Amino acid sequence: MPNETAANLLARPGIVVIGGGPAGLMAAESAAALGMRVDLYDAMPSVGRKFLLAGKGGMNITHSEPRERFESRYESQAARVREWLNRFDAQALRTWVHELGIATFVGTSGRVFPEAMKAGPLLRAWLRRLREQGVAFHVRHRWMGWDGEALRFATPDGTKHVAADVVVLALGGGSWARLGSDGAWTELLLRRGVPVADLRPANCGFEVPWSETLRRRWAGHPVKNVAARADVCHGWRRGEFVIADYGVEGGLVYGLSRPLRERIESQGAAVLTVDLAPDLPVDRLCDRLMRQKPGRSLADRLRRVGIEGVRAALVRELVEPAHYADPARLAAAIKAVPVAVQAPRPLDEAISSAGGVALDALDASLMLGRLPGIFCAGEMLDWEAPTGGYLLTACFASGRIAGEGAAQWATALAARRATSSRVGFGCPESEIR
Ligand SMILES: Cc1cc2nc3c(=O)[nH]c(=O)nc-3n(C[C@H](O)[C@H](O)[C@H](O)COP(=O)(O)OP(=O)(O)OC[C@H]3O[C@@H](n4cnc5c(N)ncnc54)[C@H](O)[C@@H]3O)c2cc1C
Repeated sequence: MPNETAANLLARPGIVVIGGGPAGLMAAESAAALGMRVDLYDAMPSVGRKFLLAGKGGMNITHSEPRERFESRYESQAARVREWLNRFDAQALRTWVHELGIATFVGTSGRVFPEAMKAGPLLRAWLRRLREQGVAFHVRHRWMGWDGEALRFATPDGTKHVAADVVVLALGGGSWARLGSDGAWTELLLRRGVPVADLRPANCGFEVPWSETLRRRWAGHPVKNVAARADVCHGWRRGEFVIADYGVEGGLVYGLSRPLRERIESQGAAVLTVDLAPDLPVDRLCDRLMRQKPGRSLADRLRRVGIEGVRAALVRELVEPAHYADPARLAAAIKAVPVAVQAPRPLDEAISSAGGVALDALDASLMLGRLPGIFCAGEMLDWEAPTGGYLLTACFASGRIAGEGAAQWATALAARRATSSRVGFGCPESEIR
């Protein structure tokens, strides 16, 4: 609303949004679109820093697969996320991106990318539109909790207090703390009685006790076109992963990070089983090994069935030498190489966080039952999903629900106050923000 006067703006019911990532910005936009005066606070000197980083390696904003499959990615939280997607799903998100003047395309994997493959142009266009809507940005304001009912912020000019009845918290998870979301908010909400599950790494690498030989020769190398599974209850997944100095990382491992992490949490360790020859059924692999002339070296025998380089190194590292001479046992071992994973890498290195505000502590509008008027959105909620655009989609969708819920709450509150002040019980206008 570019031509709106300051007086008109002040007359609108106000909400505060804390956190300027995709979820907070979407909450701000939705509330402003419903006529709210929106003040957005962020700890960092600029908003959207993780969003910009997410765009560096090719911003994957959502996924084009059918809705049912899409929802299943949120596993145990799928039913709640479905409610958010009913309001704002992958197609609605793409339309919204297009309305910002950014074209999208679907990659061969079904993932959806902005045409430039990065977040910068999208974020710039979005911030311009938010300012036109009247959203006021207050950066370098780190929320530190409440003093009485007022929000307390640490700023370069000292502590500031802000009175607000309606607040959207969109504070992110706990990874990449240098971009702003450090998870310090968990303590602030726990102190107010809000159930918050510990933040844990999701879409992360895992530690593996590699031998010095393997680490020195193969750290940094991708292991392409393999399949892996976390345990017998989960199916095989195709893809690639990377041998890291500390263990394993990359897309295939990130996709299995939830079951691996949960197995480690419950049993202290987990096994990532890798099929190094996913296109060869075990009997054909065994047959090809059997038909080789006796006396060949292991390296030569493996090479003749397509296992060389880093894959052959994994066989030597992880398959019992007792299996080498027996084609049936060697074939079975190649189809199920056991990589013992000991621990997830630290939360700060992860792409996203598991844990956060318990979903059953929030009503359908994402307002906290224990703190009426306080709404939550984005990665700070207790859901998780693999990479592939599912993270951002749920952040945007929950931001939209929380922003609209906050606007409705603020409108109802303002109406109640107007009525009660007419009959003589009103709060002073200065208390209503
Ligand atoms: C390397 C990397 C690549 C990624 N790639 C993708 C991808 O391609 N596709 C995808 O779907 N997802 C991707 N993600 C994940 C995605 O970026 C996040 O899930 C998403 O940014 C979370 O949005 P959010 O708004 O909930 O939180 P955030 O983006 O983390 O924003 C939270 C905001 O809150 C502010 N804040 C935190 N605490 C306070 C406080 N106390 N006071 C004031 N402000 C505070 C922070 O400064 C920050 O601006 C990637 C993540 C990483 C790290």
